[in-house]
Parts: sequence; structure tokens; C-alpha cells
Amino acid sequence: MRFLHLLPVGKIEARLLEGLRPHLTTAFGMPCRLLPNALDPAFAFQPGRQQYHSTEILDRLRTCVVPDTWRLLGVTAADVCIPILTFVFGEAQRNGACALVSTHRLRQEFYGLPPDSGLLEGRLLKEALHELGHTLDLRHCEDYTCAMAAAHSVEWIDLRAPRFCEHCRARIATKSLEREWVSAR
Ligand SMILES: [Zn+2]
Ligand SMILES: [Zn+2]
Repeated sequence: MRFLHLLPVGKIEARLLEGLRPHLTTAFGMPCRLLPNALDPAFAFQPGRQQYHSTEILDRLRTCVVPDTWRLLGVTAADVCIPILTFVFGEAQRNGACALVSTHRLRQEFYGLPPDSGLLEGRLLKEALHELGHTLDLRHCEDYTCAMAAAHSVEWIDLRAPRFCEHCRARIATKSLEREWVSAR
């Protein structure tokens, strides 16, 4: 049996990770569990930008993949970026095992607004679906309500539904067949 593993990257509320579990299980048809350890992202800190290099964290996540991992999703509260962009909401290995999502710019507080835990949970789920979709080789979707729609700001995330469109779902189903074939060998 293989699992969709969730790994805290730095300090992050356990309830946020717990909240993702049933939704990710439904979306991908894979049991989902929390890894007991956490990854300290200090090595990826960029003093000049006061942010964390998302690709470096992603590379490190690959070393946290265990034999029964189907996919590994790192969840962080840290502000993450890549050199050419001011920030990213997350990053994934296309057609690989690992993905990372950040809650930093999903929180209303970041925009000077009062905290909204329901909104935060919804945005985090949408981002988790999106980055995990990339690990299944899904590309950006034209349907702006689909979890695979591109988002350059949080408003775009809010336009998405917390699910994949029919077209993207069909692609995930194809990938699931491949998955069974791979694990049956
Ligand atoms: Zn994307
Ligand atoms: Zn789609």
C-alpha cells in the first residue's frame, strides 16, 4: 500500500495538515497520512530576500521520500520564492514524487486583513491539489474554476473551486491506472 504523505516544513498548525487529509484522499484515491517528523527549512533561507528558496526545499523533500510514499507534499508557513519570481505559492516536481505549498500568502493577515481560518483552509486545499496535479504531469488548465488554473495572486486562487475539472480528472484517472500498473510489477 502506498500513501500520500504530508510533511510539515518548519512550524505549521497541525490542524491545517489534518484538514487536508480527507480531501486529498477523495481527490486522488490514495490514503493520506502525516509523517511524524518535520523538515527544518533553515538551509534554504535567503538573507537578502528574507525568504526561503522553494526549489532547494523541494530538492530536500526528495530525501524524505520513503518506500511506501506515492506522493510527498511539504506544507510550510514560510514565505517561499524562486530567483526569478517575487514569491511562489508552491512548487512541484513535474511528474515526480514531491511538491511544496506555502500558507504565507494565503493568510488574510498577509494582506492586512483579519484572520479567516475557513478561507485559509480552502486556499491551502486548492494549492495542494494544484501542486500535486503538477506531480501527475498536469499542466495549467484554461478553466479558471479548475484547481489546475494558473494563479499569480490570491484572488485567482479564490476563483478556483477546490476540485479538478472533468478534463483534468480524466487525466488523473489515467495516471491512477499507470500507478496500479507500476505498483503491480
Ligand atoms: Zn501551476
Ligand atoms: Zn482543469
